[in-house]
Amino acid sequence: VPVTSILGVDVSKLDMQGTVQVLERAVASRRPHQIITANPIMIMAALDSEDNMRSMREAELIVPDGAGVVWAAEELGDPVAERVPGIDLLHALMKRGEELGWTAYLLGAAEEVVQEAASRLQKQYPKVRIVGVRNGYFGEAENAGVIESIRQSQPDLLFVARDAKTQEPWIARHKQELGVPVIMGVGGSFDVISG
Ligand code: UDP
Repeated sequence: VPVTSILGVDVSKLDMQGTVQVLERAVASRRPHQIITANPIMIMAALDSEDNMRSMREAELIVPDGAGVVWAAEELGDPVAERVPGIDLLHALMKRGEELGWTAYLLGAAEEVVQEAASRLQKQYPKVRIVGVRNGYFGEAENAGVIESIRQSQPDLLFVARDAKTQEPWIARHKQELGVPVIMGVGGSFDVISG
């Protein structure tokens, strides 16, 4: 994947369509891929802490979510193709998933929110089987159970909607045991989808 380096963070130069193509190959590979949708706050947070920088460096793909990231790349003289917002990428993956018969797991947000988001996505993309739904309010004690439930459902796509401080480190720490080929932090997207 062609990238542009923004303050040490390698951001993908693929457009939305190219991003979906790369993730289609990721699904076929069955190897775990963490997709980070980068905004300027996350890049600043990476500069601020070794831990955050490490999860950025270990991510398989960082896409330019925010307009600020697109602007920074342009200013640095190595522009990206276009914005690739997380929620748009989620929809684009569900759309491609309809054609390829993928399955998805939704993890995060409050219980009513994630249930409603799942039901709306299922209506909009009936050929993508939603194999699991779990709210994002769980602690260390429940972690192993959450991971086991996802492992057993073997989804192609795992969308994780938790706060920015928790979601990326959690995905980074558990992506190998989760064994899901496309794992993406989507922040407040379930709230948006559920209306
Ligand atoms: N969330 C969650 N578990 C938590 C904290 C937050 O599932 O422990 C969910 C929250 O319900 C919302 C999403 O994470 O759907 C994004 O939360 P917020 O907007 O507070 O985080 P930010 O994106 O501002 O970091």
